[in-house]
Amino acid sequence: MTCVKTTCPYCGVGCGVLAQPDGTIKGDPDHPANFGRLCSKGSALGETIDLDGRLLAPQILGREAGWNDALDLVATKFSAAIRYYGPDSVAFYVSGQLLTEDYYVANKLMKGYIGSANIDTNSRLCMASSVAGHKRAFGTDTVPGTYEDLEEADLIVLVGSNLAWCHPVLYQRIAAAKAARPEMRVVNIDPRITATSDLADLHLQIKGDGDVALFNGLLSHLANSGKLNSDYINAHVNGFDLALESATADDPSASGLTPDEIVEFYAMWAGTEKTVTIYSQGVNQSMSGTDKVNAIINCHLATGRIGKPGMGPFSVTGQPNAMGGREVGGLANMLANHLDIENADHRDAVQAAWNSPTICTKPGLKAVDLFKACADGTIKALWIISTNPAVSLPDADGVAEAISNVPFTVVTDIMARTDTGDLADVLLPATGWGEKNGTVTNSERRISRQRAFLPTPGAARPDWKIICDVAERMGFDGFGYETAGDIFAEYAATTALSQQFGKDLNLAALTDADYDSLAPTQWPVGKQTRFFADGAFYHPDGKARMIAVTAPELSTGKFRLNTGRNRDQWHTMTRTGKSQRLGAHLAEPYVEIHPDDADAIGVDTAELITLYGPKGKGIFRALISEKVAPGNLFAPLHWTRQLSAAGVVNSTVETGVDPISGQPATKSAQVDASKC
Ligand code: SF4
Repeated sequence: MTCVKTTCPYCGVGCGVLAQPDGTIKGDPDHPANFGRLCSKGSALGETIDLDGRLLAPQILGREAGWNDALDLVATKFSAAIRYYGPDSVAFYVSGQLLTEDYYVANKLMKGYIGSANIDTNSRLCMASSVAGHKRAFGTDTVPGTYEDLEEADLIVLVGSNLAWCHPVLYQRIAAAKAARPEMRVVNIDPRITATSDLADLHLQIKGDGDVALFNGLLSHLANSGKLNSDYINAHVNGFDLALESATADDPSASGLTPDEIVEFYAMWAGTEKTVTIYSQGVNQSMSGTDKVNAIINCHLATGRIGKPGMGPFSVTGQPNAMGGREVGGLANMLANHLDIENADHRDAVQAAWNSPTICTKPGLKAVDLFKACADGTIKALWIISTNPAVSLPDADGVAEAISNVPFTVVTDIMARTDTGDLADVLLPATGWGEKNGTVTNSERRISRQRAFLPTPGAARPDWKIICDVAERMGFDGFGYETAGDIFAEYAATTALSQQFGKDLNLAALTDADYDSLAPTQWPVGKQTRFFADGAFYHPDGKARMIAVTAPELSTGKFRLNTGRNRDQWHTMTRTGKSQRLGAHLAEPYVEIHPDDADAIGVDTAELITLYGPKGKGIFRALISEKVAPGNLFAPLHWTRQLSAAGVVNSTVETGVDPISGQPATKSAQVDASKC
């Protein structure tokens, strides 16, 4: 049976997969992300490709319809809203699950043809703070390092990352490297004790959002102990004095760690040249997320530990194609090719490359604001593609109401019933993993092909095709692509603009590549794989920026709720929920609670707890554990209203957003709890 080389559709590790139409799945031994390894989710992919529950034909108001009728209606409604209320009256909310080609045409349609930047993505919930932190420090959204750096490092510092569950193959690579070189050390900084802590030589049970205080303290310690790299700072960095002044004003004990823990960590970091600091959602999903990113990067810049083997700050992305989406500009505050909406020269160049009739002139609405605009009536037509915001966004009930309030909503999905799809006027069936062709970019900037190995089910179509069909019906030229490869070729050619404006993206060498046989390829294509080796950055003066950041006031409340993922489920379980094997790991919604807190509210193991947020509530099984600190709770985000009548966790989550990145602070919701 034919074996097809493709890429796992789940996390940002981007593992290569060998897939057969009968559902046989193996890790691709030749893929440089995983060298044959797969985690539980990846190895169960064959159990998720049946057609149970699939959306196989378009629906209009719940009734099956033909493609022509559905596409005509979508185009008519969007065109009418734009005509009567202007381009900013419509919005797309897309997904880090989309392939780069899907993302590219959605972004091109909204920004270059409709003329609005109201296209945001669930990647806003994933890594927007890292994007903002990178841009502040480096002048562009660049991930400096590679996965090999994680294996070459002598010290790995994991901040706000349960890598063992959320990026399991990267965890396996580090574990294997540590087994081969026992002198390699691992520090895990997390308010929870997690499966990742098993690998750690030192676990630091930090207070939630104590990261800026801790890394500001580290910068002061580096200065006081003579561990700065002054030559590097003088040659390659601006902003050092202000950043150090700000750092010195902070007290690292605000992190909640003991003096001994702080001293031990600082000595390890200061004394180990080859250090990689990995960070993920515990850093990003915070009202101080961007400052946390810069507090970490500051320490690497101050020691020159960046752009060299086994060193650097390293953001691991949650989704399979958050990086590809960033590259094509699929966030409301970005233009394609890592260019800036606010820059008129950038806008003109992108418009010329697209040969488009217009171009957005200002940033659009970021995710949380986008749904507020749905609630207040600003948005008249909304297209949600490949994501389930009625479950996955904070204030999930409010988001569901906001979607209901939009006069015309389209949802594209692979499944017939989702909490969000149930609110749609028009449902459009998309092809899913194994049925479509395209590319994704993983956390180390490596582009890999997803390849079809299954027949197209029913009337489903690839997302890029659906978007292009609507664009053409809206009267726009420029969307007549025959294949996903045509789109990729256009996109790769346009990345020359990034080089033209002194930015980092460079895929132009791929324009003539054979798309069908494209091997996993890291960008910048044809150059070194690690950025900043020469100390040159993307700010106009060629220097990096250290950013003055200040530790935030830590919020207080009855309980601090941290939401996240389980090892064996993905997002709202539309695919992983099909596998009995995966469902056996943790079978129902739960909340982790410390024994002292469980005593205080009179709850015993496996009894039910009601969580109350400012606007909503939900009921969860008590999992009593000392792995969460007193006053803290942890609950996974996966269960939908359709899977759990007791409510979804994001109904209880009402938080602010990071003021720079717009990323919601879903690690620190203030809730109350009582025995059910
Ligand atoms: Fe898929 Fe991530 Fe697991 Fe790799 S680590 S198999 S990309 S879920």
